[in-house]
Amino acid sequence: MRIQALPAQLINQIAAGEVVERPASVLKELVENSLDAGASRIEVDIEQGGAKLIRVRDNGAGIHPEDLRLALSRHATSKITTLEELERVSSMGFRGEALPSIASVSRLSIASRATGQESGWIVSSDGGDRFADPAPSAHPQGTTVEVRDLFYNTPARRKFMRTEKTEFGHIETQLKRLALSRFDVSFSLSHNRKEVFTLPLADQVMEQERRLAGLLGSGFLEQTIHLDREQAGLALRGWVARPVFSRSQADMQYFYVNGRMVRDKLVTHAVRQAFQDVLFHGRHPAYVLYLDLDPLQVDVNVHPAKHEVRFRDGRMVHGFIYRTLHQVLADTRPGQEVDRST
Ligand code: ADP
Ligand code: MG
Repeated sequence: MRIQALPAQLINQIAAGEVVERPASVLKELVENSLDAGASRIEVDIEQGGAKLIRVRDNGAGIHPEDLRLALSRHATSKITTLEELERVSSMGFRGEALPSIASVSRLSIASRATGQESGWIVSSDGGDRFADPAPSAHPQGTTVEVRDLFYNTPARRKFMRTEKTEFGHIETQLKRLALSRFDVSFSLSHNRKEVFTLPLADQVMEQERRLAGLLGSGFLEQTIHLDREQAGLALRGWVARPVFSRSQADMQYFYVNGRMVRDKLVTHAVRQAFQDVLFHGRHPAYVLYLDLDPLQVDVNVHPAKHEVRFRDGRMVHGFIYRTLHQVLADTRPGQEVDRST
Protein backbone atom coordinates (compact mmCIF):
# COMPACT_ATOMS: atom_id res chain seq x y z
CA MET A 1 0.00 0.00 0.00
CA ARG A 2 1.07 3.56 -0.70
CA ILE A 3 1.36 6.21 1.99
CA GLN A 4 -1.50 8.67 2.44
CA ALA A 5 -2.06 11.57 4.83
CA LEU A 6 -4.98 10.84 7.19
CA PRO A 7 -8.06 13.06 7.00
CA ALA A 8 -8.41 15.57 9.87
CA GLN A 9 -11.48 13.94 11.36
CA LEU A 10 -9.74 10.58 11.62
CA ILE A 11 -6.66 12.18 13.18
CA ASN A 12 -8.91 13.73 15.81
CA GLN A 13 -10.72 10.46 16.43
CA ILE A 14 -7.41 8.71 16.97
CA ALA A 15 -6.34 11.43 19.40
CA ALA A 16 -9.73 11.09 21.11
CA GLY A 17 -8.69 7.56 22.00
CA GLU A 18 -6.11 9.06 24.34
CA VAL A 19 -7.95 12.08 25.64
CA VAL A 20 -11.58 10.92 25.77
CA GLU A 21 -11.81 7.66 27.64
CA ARG A 22 -15.37 8.17 28.93
CA PRO A 23 -17.87 10.94 29.76
CA ALA A 24 -15.88 11.90 32.89
CA SER A 25 -12.81 12.69 30.76
CA VAL A 26 -14.89 15.04 28.63
CA LEU A 27 -16.09 16.75 31.78
CA LYS A 28 -12.51 17.17 33.01
CA GLU A 29 -11.39 18.84 29.79
CA LEU A 30 -14.37 21.20 29.68
CA VAL A 31 -14.11 22.26 33.31
CA GLU A 32 -10.36 22.77 33.01
CA ASN A 33 -11.03 25.06 30.05
CA SER A 34 -13.49 27.04 32.18
CA LEU A 35 -10.89 27.34 34.94
CA ASP A 36 -8.28 28.46 32.42
CA ALA A 37 -10.75 31.11 31.21
CA GLY A 38 -10.77 32.58 34.72
CA ALA A 39 -14.34 31.58 35.55
CA SER A 40 -15.56 32.07 39.10
CA ARG A 41 -18.76 30.09 38.52
CA ILE A 42 -19.06 26.74 36.75
CA GLU A 43 -22.34 24.91 36.25
CA VAL A 44 -22.43 21.32 35.05
CA ASP A 45 -25.52 19.54 33.75
CA ILE A 46 -25.44 15.87 32.90
CA GLU A 47 -28.05 13.65 31.29
CA GLN A 48 -27.96 9.86 31.25
CA GLY A 49 -24.56 9.58 32.84
CA GLY A 50 -23.11 11.90 30.22
CA ALA A 51 -23.97 9.62 27.31
CA LYS A 52 -26.76 11.95 26.22
CA LEU A 53 -25.51 15.33 27.44
CA ILE A 54 -22.55 16.95 29.15
CA ARG A 55 -23.02 20.70 29.48
CA VAL A 56 -20.54 23.05 31.12
CA ARG A 57 -21.43 26.70 31.51
CA ASP A 58 -19.01 29.30 32.87
CA ASN A 59 -18.70 33.04 33.40
CA GLY A 60 -15.09 33.21 32.20
CA ALA A 61 -13.40 35.40 29.59
CA GLY A 62 -15.22 33.79 26.65
CA ILE A 63 -13.98 33.18 23.12
CA HIS A 64 -13.62 35.90 20.51
CA PRO A 65 -16.20 35.29 17.72
CA GLU A 66 -13.45 35.03 15.11
CA ASP A 67 -11.70 32.35 17.20
CA LEU A 68 -14.74 30.14 17.72
CA ARG A 69 -13.99 27.85 14.82
CA LEU A 70 -10.29 27.77 15.66
CA ALA A 71 -11.17 26.46 19.12
CA LEU A 72 -12.36 23.33 17.34
CA SER A 73 -9.27 22.84 15.25
CA ARG A 74 -6.31 20.76 16.21
CA HIS A 75 -3.25 22.25 17.94
CA ALA A 76 -4.96 25.61 18.21
CA THR A 77 -4.58 27.12 21.67
CA SER A 78 -4.62 30.54 23.31
CA LYS A 79 -2.47 29.33 26.20
CA ILE A 80 1.10 29.10 24.94
CA THR A 81 3.01 30.37 21.93
CA THR A 82 6.62 29.34 22.63
CA LEU A 83 8.65 26.58 24.21
CA GLU A 84 9.60 28.89 27.08
CA GLU A 85 5.95 29.42 27.86
CA LEU A 86 5.41 25.67 27.84
CA GLU A 87 8.17 25.29 30.42
CA ARG A 88 6.47 27.62 32.86
CA VAL A 89 2.89 26.92 31.89
CA SER A 90 0.36 27.43 34.67
CA SER A 91 -2.86 26.77 32.74
CA MET A 92 -4.46 23.33 32.90
CA GLY A 93 -4.50 22.98 29.12
CA PHE A 94 -1.92 23.87 26.47
CA ARG A 95 -2.10 21.21 23.74
CA GLY A 96 -5.12 22.51 21.86
CA GLU A 97 -6.33 18.95 21.44
CA ALA A 98 -9.29 18.46 23.71
CA LEU A 99 -12.08 20.26 21.88
CA PRO A 100 -11.31 18.90 18.39
CA SER A 101 -10.94 15.39 19.84
CA ILE A 102 -14.23 15.59 21.72
CA ALA A 103 -15.95 17.17 18.71
CA SER A 104 -14.83 14.30 16.49
CA VAL A 105 -16.74 11.74 18.58
CA SER A 106 -19.88 13.69 19.55
CA ARG A 107 -22.28 16.44 18.58
CA LEU A 108 -20.70 19.53 20.07
CA SER A 109 -21.66 23.16 20.32
CA ILE A 110 -19.89 26.15 21.83
CA ALA A 111 -21.77 29.30 22.65
CA SER A 112 -19.69 32.15 23.96
CA ARG A 113 -19.61 35.84 24.59
CA ALA A 114 -16.14 37.26 25.09
CA THR A 115 -15.27 40.16 27.36
CA GLY A 116 -15.96 43.40 25.53
CA GLN A 117 -18.23 41.83 22.90
CA GLU A 118 -21.79 43.03 22.54
CA SER A 119 -23.33 39.70 21.70
CA GLY A 120 -22.71 36.00 21.86
CA TRP A 121 -21.99 33.55 19.07
CA ILE A 122 -22.46 29.82 18.64
CA VAL A 123 -20.78 27.13 16.52
CA SER A 124 -21.80 23.53 16.37
CA SER A 125 -20.51 20.40 14.73
CA ASP A 126 -21.62 16.83 14.13
CA GLY A 127 -18.70 14.47 14.55
CA GLY A 128 -16.26 17.34 14.05
CA ASP A 129 -16.41 16.82 10.34
CA ARG A 130 -17.54 20.23 9.18
CA PHE A 131 -19.03 23.03 11.10
CA ALA A 132 -21.16 25.90 9.89
CA ASP A 133 -20.21 29.56 10.31
CA PRO A 134 -20.84 30.97 13.78
CA ALA A 135 -24.38 32.21 14.30
CA PRO A 136 -25.49 34.92 16.75
CA SER A 137 -26.69 33.56 20.06
CA ALA A 138 -28.02 35.18 23.20
CA HIS A 139 -25.40 34.31 25.78
CA PRO A 140 -24.18 36.18 28.84
CA GLN A 141 -20.43 36.78 29.25
CA GLY A 142 -18.73 33.40 29.36
CA THR A 143 -19.00 30.12 27.56
CA THR A 144 -21.31 27.12 27.35
CA VAL A 145 -20.05 23.92 25.79
CA GLU A 146 -22.57 21.16 25.09
CA VAL A 147 -21.47 17.66 24.22
CA ARG A 148 -24.31 15.41 23.07
CA ASP A 149 -24.42 11.77 22.05
CA LEU A 150 -20.82 10.94 22.95
CA PHE A 151 -19.33 8.19 20.73
CA TYR A 152 -22.47 8.15 18.53
CA ASN A 153 -20.24 7.77 15.46
CA THR A 154 -17.72 5.36 16.99
CA PRO A 155 -19.77 2.27 17.93
CA ALA A 156 -16.73 0.32 19.10
CA ARG A 157 -16.01 2.97 21.71
CA ARG A 158 -19.63 3.39 22.69
CA LYS A 159 -19.67 -0.25 23.73
CA PHE A 160 -17.08 0.48 26.38
CA MET A 161 -19.36 2.87 28.20
CA ARG A 162 -20.74 1.39 31.42
CA THR A 163 -24.15 1.88 32.98
CA GLU A 164 -25.54 5.35 33.51
CA LYS A 165 -24.90 5.00 37.23
CA THR A 166 -21.26 3.98 36.82
CA GLU A 167 -20.50 6.73 34.32
CA PHE A 168 -22.20 9.33 36.48
CA GLY A 169 -20.17 8.09 39.46
CA HIS A 170 -16.99 8.81 37.52
CA ILE A 171 -18.28 12.25 36.59
CA GLU A 172 -19.07 13.07 40.20
CA THR A 173 -15.61 11.91 41.32
CA GLN A 174 -13.99 14.00 38.61
CA LEU A 175 -15.91 17.13 39.51
CA LYS A 176 -15.09 16.62 43.21
CA ARG A 177 -11.40 16.55 42.37
CA LEU A 178 -11.73 19.74 40.39
CA ALA A 179 -13.86 21.41 43.06
CA LEU A 180 -11.21 20.62 45.69
CA SER A 181 -8.57 22.24 43.50
CA ARG A 182 -10.25 25.66 43.40
CA PHE A 183 -12.06 27.01 46.44
CA ASP A 184 -12.25 30.40 44.73
CA VAL A 185 -14.70 29.03 42.18
CA SER A 186 -18.30 27.98 42.79
CA PHE A 187 -19.50 24.72 41.27
CA SER A 188 -22.83 23.07 40.74
CA LEU A 189 -23.77 19.67 39.38
CA SER A 190 -27.10 18.30 38.19
CA HIS A 191 -27.99 14.89 36.81
CA ASN A 192 -31.14 14.32 34.77
CA ARG A 193 -32.28 17.80 35.84
CA LYS A 194 -31.94 17.05 39.56
CA GLU A 195 -29.45 18.99 41.65
CA VAL A 196 -26.62 16.82 42.99
CA PHE A 197 -24.58 19.53 44.73
CA THR A 198 -23.95 23.23 44.84
CA LEU A 199 -20.69 24.52 46.26
CA PRO A 200 -20.48 28.24 47.01
CA LEU A 201 -17.20 30.18 46.89
CA ALA A 202 -15.00 29.33 49.87
CA ASP A 203 -12.35 31.96 50.65
CA GLN A 204 -12.01 31.34 54.38
CA VAL A 205 -10.60 28.13 55.84
CA MET A 206 -13.93 27.53 57.61
CA GLU A 207 -15.85 27.71 54.34
CA GLN A 208 -13.27 25.52 52.69
CA GLU A 209 -13.75 22.95 55.41
CA ARG A 210 -17.49 23.07 54.77
CA ARG A 211 -16.84 22.23 51.12
CA LEU A 212 -14.48 19.49 52.23
CA ALA A 213 -17.08 18.01 54.59
CA GLY A 214 -19.74 18.24 51.89
CA LEU A 215 -17.60 16.33 49.41
CA LEU A 216 -15.71 13.89 51.63
CA GLY A 217 -18.07 13.55 54.58
CA SER A 218 -18.02 15.07 58.04
CA GLY A 219 -16.10 12.06 59.41
CA PHE A 220 -13.03 13.09 57.47
CA LEU A 221 -13.23 16.67 58.63
CA GLU A 222 -13.70 15.79 62.30
CA GLN A 223 -10.47 13.81 62.31
CA THR A 224 -8.46 16.15 60.20
CA ILE A 225 -5.35 18.22 60.81
CA HIS A 226 -4.97 21.42 58.85
CA LEU A 227 -1.42 22.23 57.82
CA ASP A 228 0.36 25.02 56.04
CA ARG A 229 4.17 24.82 55.78
CA GLU A 230 6.68 26.52 53.56
CA GLN A 231 10.38 25.96 53.04
CA ALA A 232 12.88 26.91 50.39
CA GLY A 233 10.36 27.69 47.65
CA LEU A 234 8.17 24.69 48.40
CA ALA A 235 4.79 25.01 50.11
CA LEU A 236 2.61 22.19 51.41
CA ARG A 237 -0.82 22.93 52.74
CA GLY A 238 -4.12 21.17 53.14
CA TRP A 239 -5.59 18.54 55.40
CA VAL A 240 -4.51 15.09 56.55
CA ALA A 241 -6.74 12.78 58.54
CA ARG A 242 -5.39 11.46 61.82
CA PRO A 243 -4.43 7.79 61.73
CA VAL A 244 -7.71 6.84 63.49
CA PHE A 245 -9.46 7.80 60.26
CA SER A 246 -7.43 5.46 58.03
CA ARG A 247 -9.21 3.76 55.13
CA SER A 248 -9.27 0.20 53.82
CA GLN A 249 -8.79 1.60 50.32
CA ALA A 250 -6.76 4.45 48.88
CA ASP A 251 -9.99 6.24 48.01
CA MET A 252 -9.53 9.54 49.84
CA GLN A 253 -6.23 10.73 48.56
CA TYR A 254 -6.17 14.04 46.78
CA PHE A 255 -2.82 15.56 45.92
CA TYR A 256 -2.46 18.69 43.82
CA VAL A 257 0.75 20.05 42.36
CA ASN A 258 0.41 23.71 41.38
CA GLY A 259 -3.36 23.25 41.28
CA ARG A 260 -3.27 20.11 39.16
CA MET A 261 -4.47 16.83 40.63
CA VAL A 262 -1.74 14.21 40.31
CA ARG A 263 -1.36 10.54 41.11
CA ASP A 264 2.36 10.42 41.18
CA LYS A 265 4.57 7.59 42.45
CA LEU A 266 7.08 9.84 44.15
CA VAL A 267 4.40 11.83 45.95
CA THR A 268 2.43 8.76 47.02
CA HIS A 269 5.60 7.15 48.30
CA ALA A 270 6.58 10.19 50.35
CA VAL A 271 3.14 10.39 51.97
CA ARG A 272 2.97 6.68 52.67
CA GLN A 273 6.40 6.73 54.26
CA ALA A 274 5.35 9.56 56.57
CA PHE A 275 2.34 7.52 57.71
CA GLN A 276 4.27 4.26 57.95
CA ASP A 277 4.84 4.32 61.69
CA VAL A 278 1.32 5.40 62.63
CA LEU A 279 -0.83 3.22 60.35
CA PHE A 280 -1.53 -0.48 60.56
CA HIS A 281 -0.42 -2.59 57.66
CA GLY A 282 -2.96 -2.53 54.83
CA ARG A 283 -4.58 0.72 55.96
CA HIS A 284 -4.47 3.82 53.78
CA PRO A 285 -4.19 7.45 54.83
CA ALA A 286 -6.79 10.06 53.85
CA TYR A 287 -5.62 13.49 52.73
CA VAL A 288 -6.25 16.54 50.61
CA LEU A 289 -2.89 18.21 50.00
CA TYR A 290 -1.61 21.02 47.85
CA LEU A 291 2.04 21.31 46.89
CA ASP A 292 3.08 24.56 45.28
CA LEU A 293 6.46 25.24 43.73
CA ASP A 294 8.12 27.18 40.94
CA PRO A 295 6.60 25.93 37.64
CA LEU A 296 10.15 25.60 36.28
CA GLN A 297 10.76 22.89 38.89
CA VAL A 298 8.06 20.62 37.52
CA ASP A 299 7.27 19.28 34.06
CA VAL A 300 3.55 18.83 33.45
CA ASN A 301 3.94 17.90 29.80
CA VAL A 302 4.12 14.16 30.42
CA HIS A 303 0.91 12.62 29.12
CA PRO A 304 -2.33 14.23 27.94
CA ALA A 305 -4.65 12.26 30.21
CA LYS A 306 -2.49 10.67 32.89
CA HIS A 307 -2.03 12.36 36.23
CA GLU A 308 1.73 12.37 36.10
CA VAL A 309 4.30 15.08 36.53
CA ARG A 310 8.08 15.09 36.62
CA PHE A 311 9.98 17.00 39.27
CA ARG A 312 13.32 18.50 38.42
CA ASP A 313 14.60 17.72 41.91
CA GLY A 314 12.54 14.72 42.94
CA ARG A 315 14.62 13.95 46.02
CA MET A 316 14.13 17.40 47.45
CA VAL A 317 10.38 17.29 46.85
CA HIS A 318 10.13 13.80 48.33
CA GLY A 319 12.10 14.86 51.39
CA PHE A 320 10.02 17.98 51.94
CA ILE A 321 6.69 16.12 51.75
CA TYR A 322 7.93 13.32 53.97
CA ARG A 323 9.47 15.57 56.65
CA THR A 324 6.52 17.95 56.76
CA LEU A 325 3.91 15.22 57.18
CA HIS A 326 6.06 13.22 59.56
CA GLN A 327 6.40 16.29 61.77
CA VAL A 328 2.69 17.12 61.61
CA LEU A 329 1.78 13.57 62.59
CA ALA A 330 4.34 13.47 65.39
CA ASP A 331 2.96 16.73 66.78
CA THR A 332 -0.54 15.36 67.00
CA ARG A 333 -0.05 11.99 68.61
CA PRO A 334 -3.09 10.94 70.66
CA GLY A 335 -3.44 12.76 73.96
CA GLN A 336 -1.94 15.96 72.63
CA GLU A 337 -3.84 19.11 71.85
CA VAL A 338 -4.22 19.77 68.14
CA ASP A 339 -3.17 23.21 67.06
CA ARG A 340 -5.50 23.89 64.14
CA SER A 341 -3.69 27.07 63.20
CA THR A 342 -0.49 25.39 62.07
P1 ADP B 1 -6.25 23.87 25.25
O1 ADP B 1 -7.07 23.96 26.50
O2 ADP B 1 -5.14 22.90 25.37
O3 ADP B 1 -5.80 25.22 24.75
P2 ADP B 1 -8.74 23.00 24.04
O4 ADP B 1 -9.00 22.20 22.81
O5 ADP B 1 -9.23 22.45 25.32
O6 ADP B 1 -7.17 23.26 24.09
O7 ADP B 1 -9.36 24.43 23.82
C1 ADP B 1 -8.96 25.21 22.71
C2 ADP B 1 -9.07 26.71 22.98
O8 ADP B 1 -10.45 27.08 23.08
C3 ADP B 1 -8.46 27.16 24.29
O9 ADP B 1 -7.06 27.43 24.14
C4 ADP B 1 -9.25 28.41 24.60
O10 ADP B 1 -8.72 29.52 23.95
C5 ADP B 1 -10.61 28.13 24.00
N1 ADP B 1 -11.60 27.70 25.03
C6 ADP B 1 -12.06 26.44 25.23
N2 ADP B 1 -12.98 26.41 26.23
C7 ADP B 1 -13.09 27.68 26.67
C8 ADP B 1 -13.88 28.31 27.70
N3 ADP B 1 -14.72 27.62 28.48
N4 ADP B 1 -13.75 29.66 27.85
C9 ADP B 1 -12.89 30.38 27.08
N5 ADP B 1 -12.13 29.83 26.10
C10 ADP B 1 -12.22 28.51 25.90
MG1 MG C 1 -8.28 22.46 27.25
